[in-house]
Amino acid sequence: MSERQEGDEAASVTSTLPEEQRERLAARLRDVRARMAQAAGRSGRAAGTVQLIAVTKTVSVATIRAAYELGLTTFGENRVQEARAKIAELRLPGARWELIGHVQTNKAGQAVTLFDRIESVDSLRLAEVLSARAAAAGRRLPILLEVNIAGEASKSGFAPEELIAAARAIAALPAVEPQGLMTVAPLVDDPEAVRPVLRRLRELRDRLREAVPLGGGAGWPELSMGMSDDFEVGIDEGATLVRLGRALFGERPAL
Ligand SMILES: *Cc1c(COP(=O)(O)O)cnc(C)c1O
Repeated sequence: MSERQEGDEAASVTSTLPEEQRERLAARLRDVRARMAQAAGRSGRAAGTVQLIAVTKTVSVATIRAAYELGLTTFGENRVQEARAKIAELRLPGARWELIGHVQTNKAGQAVTLFDRIESVDSLRLAEVLSARAAAAGRRLPILLEVNIAGEASKSGFAPEELIAAARAIAALPAVEPQGLMTVAPLVDDPEAVRPVLRRLRELRDRLREAVPLGGGAGWPELSMGMSDDFEVGIDEGATLVRLGRALFGERPAL
């Protein structure tokens, strides 16, 4: 064993991931970053205008730690319980955790303490409870409103028709800070097929900006849209956040 220097403790969050898997992750990350930059370039956007969220549901803590060591700092989880265990075990300095899955109001308190932002706010009731919990915790919680653009019964989110009224009520809550919109596009083989859905989210955001002005007209800046199969289309349509699981970590085990 080599001698440890003072200060090594914090810096060497050693990953137990086998070298080969680590290399594969590094290669996938390089590939994703290159594709993101290309997609941004094609649509005339600066590469830095799109942020990568590594979706780590079902991903082991060893792999998450390796991802962090490779420079990923924002992680998305879709279940409060799973995230809670991982966040506690990992304790990654400077990492940000975002909740991207449906949360029941009885878990809202936990969600407020665990997450830096909740992207999956899908009802006024949930926003009210989150605001109350955040206020009690002495913080203002950044949120995105999830929209179910395609009206899929299996998905949560506001219907486009109800979004503006809900957003107006949510914007008036004291301890949540609405920052934009999120959607999960339908699963399709051809990424081009989701383009109208993603475009619709951007158009909704533009209407929302006028109808519920925040931040002096520059409100609702974030558009979280684009997953492993469609993130390039998402970037082309104006995504500021892409949420990637499989493109970084490979296929997930079947549930
Ligand atoms: C799982 C998940 C993702 C990532 O999906 P991939 O297809 O693996 O990139 C993104 N957003 C949400 C809400 C998810 O649940």
